[in-house]
Amino acid sequence: MFMHNKRLQYTVRVGETNPVLASLLLEQFGGPDGELAAAMRYFTQGLAEDDPGRKDMLLDIATEELSHLEVIGSIVAMLNKGCKGAISEASMTEAELYLSLTKGGNSHTQGILFGGGPALTNSSGVPWTAAYVDSRGDPTCDLRSNIAAESRAKIIYERLINITDDPGIKDALGFLMTREVAHQKSFEKALYSIQDNFPPGKLPGIEKFANIYVNTSQGPGDGKGSWNAGPQWDRIDDLEQTMPIDGGDGQATVVLADDEKGTLDQLLVRTLSDPEGDPETGVDLGAGAGAGRITDEDLGGAADINDAADQAKAATE
Ligand code: MN
Ligand code: MN
Repeated sequence: MFMHNKRLQYTVRVGETNPVLASLLLEQFGGPDGELAAAMRYFTQGLAEDDPGRKDMLLDIATEELSHLEVIGSIVAMLNKGCKGAISEASMTEAELYLSLTKGGNSHTQGILFGGGPALTNSSGVPWTAAYVDSRGDPTCDLRSNIAAESRAKIIYERLINITDDPGIKDALGFLMTREVAHQKSFEKALYSIQDNFPPGKLPGIEKFANIYVNTSQGPGDGKGSWNAGPQWDRIDDLEQTMPIDGGDGQATVVLADDEKGTLDQLLVRTLSDPEGDPETGVDLGAGAGAGRITDEDLGGAADINDAADQAKAATE
């Protein structure tokens, strides 16, 4: 069961109201790397987890993320207090109110649609979605994703810290940012507490393909490093000679039942194209300036685009 404690995890001291900053901070309230996404990610993973240690950790961190949601949401609400009162009580002239709501960011939506309350959107007003949670129910897979999610959250907090000079907000954001660093460490430890955590899952990789690096982007800028060359790698630079890599003919085939083959043959015959014809189409009938060449047009000997360009050049001389 959940209980609610009326004290925040970290004290929120906002120096002055600022609806534009509030709209930017929504990125960590209802955005892809925000606190609701983090809480839902670990909460749903924790419910399904069977390992007692990981289950405990996931539910601890999920609940802390909800506490962070409360902190960031409270900062947004404080920043919007001026806007909330003004729009509800019409305490300014229409022109002043209009100006106060349209200073930038997404602040007008927060005032007009949400009345100054923290909205479950990102900083552009895009609604939160469960699609931000990419759990797959495999611990080594999900822990790696959690590590990446914590590092993204850390970076977004860092950017938000860099756009405010309010010391109280900087202070609280610094706390939230640092907790994501600590969570990343817990997930790293949990990942490496599983023996043989790479590759993820149960099936091993196929040995003969596991060490290959395929140099598919070739030309100036080709580089080598430990990630694609050296003792761990069998490098393929000559793509023509080695593809398809399985030694087969590289064609896609399927064994069809007789009735499937008959139906597909019918379809092929019905939609066969005629490479000999040159039909007139609606494009020809409606062609005006800029239409390019059209069917049966007298091309004046301009057999290709180079000839046409030469003709155009000659005409201007
Ligand atoms: Mn958090
Ligand atoms: Mn976190």
